Amino acid sequence: MEKVVIMGTGCAGLTAALYTARANLAPLVLTGTMPGGLLTTTSIVENYPGFPEGVDGYKLMTDMQKQAQRFGARVKFANVEAVDFSKTPFRITADDEEIQSQTFIIASGASHRHLGVPGEELLETKGVTYCATCDGALPLFRDKPLVVVGGGDSACEEAVYLTRFGSKVYLVHRRDSLRASKIMAARTLTHPKIEAVWDTVVTDIYDVKQDKVTAVKLQNVKTGKERVLDCAGVFIAIGHIPNTQLFKGVIDMDDHGYIRPVQGSRTNVPGVFVAGDCADSVYRQAVTAAGMGCAAAIDAERYLSALNQ
Ligand code: NAP
Repeated sequence: MEKVVIMGTGCAGLTAALYTARANLAPLVLTGTMPGGLLTTTSIVENYPGFPEGVDGYKLMTDMQKQAQRFGARVKFANVEAVDFSKTPFRITADDEEIQSQTFIIASGASHRHLGVPGEELLETKGVTYCATCDGALPLFRDKPLVVVGGGDSACEEAVYLTRFGSKVYLVHRRDSLRASKIMAARTLTHPKIEAVWDTVVTDIYDVKQDKVTAVKLQNVKTGKERVLDCAGVFIAIGHIPNTQLFKGVIDMDDHGYIRPVQGSRTNVPGVFVAGDCADSVYRQAVTAAGMGCAAAIDAERYLSALNQ
């Protein structure tokens, strides 16, 4: 039987792994379908303390994993399919295998939010993408006009990154000001290859018949005016949805699906702790997720100590 099972290998999960490993609890860390989490899809992370020149997101996560493994964390490529927290030890089903554990740390992160417009699903990987770092360099986007949707840090980051490949980048945002941090917004709006398209939403993505992205239909939300904008790619960066569906009805969460801890990282089920983006609709930073992972590890360790006394 395991002492600690951690679901997720983003900043929260791997920091929880590092701390529980150093407490000699030999945590079992289950990666889920996206080892390393969303940060592996970022290019340079400039706001993680300790890296004055920034650090590549993939490298940061790989190093975090190595650091946790050095102290005895075991990382397994497996997807959690079901959990039974009704009695202890907890029963976790991952890739058809049952695991028993005294504690469980949910660090399942969040997934990209979709626009939900016609063409989006059918043209995914054919010009519609949720990750500029992963897909931006593909030949289909080279020297072509590209569209980024969103007004947050992710959208700005994607837009600036895509200027390396596209002939021009349109940043389509539903309001007339960016939500992004001041420094990212300034970098984006002053870039000669980026044109902001304000107060505008994407209502359709063309062309399913040609099986590739050729244009988007835009609507100005203030005037109602519609137009078609030619482009070879649509990069959607409109936020995230917490990966908590598995815990609905068992673990307390808010109306948007973010887990609501009862105290610190403790959830309503004793022995189950939470950390990172799946419980954070406010800060959502790599460093806050790491801090939450640390807190969950310390709470789990104290819970186990009390149990064994
Ligand atoms: P976000 O801050 O939640 O921004 C999402 C953007 O998408 C907002 O501008 C929002 O518009 C827009 N949006 C949401 N739903 C939409 C819809 N259905 N249709 C059209 N537009 C829609 O998400 P994020 O940019 O992914 O950032 C998440 C967190 O990660 C933030 O805390 C951010 O600071 C952080 N982050 C940091 C960095 C960095 O520092 N390098 C990079 C990436 C992300 P409204 O503004 O109108 O709500």
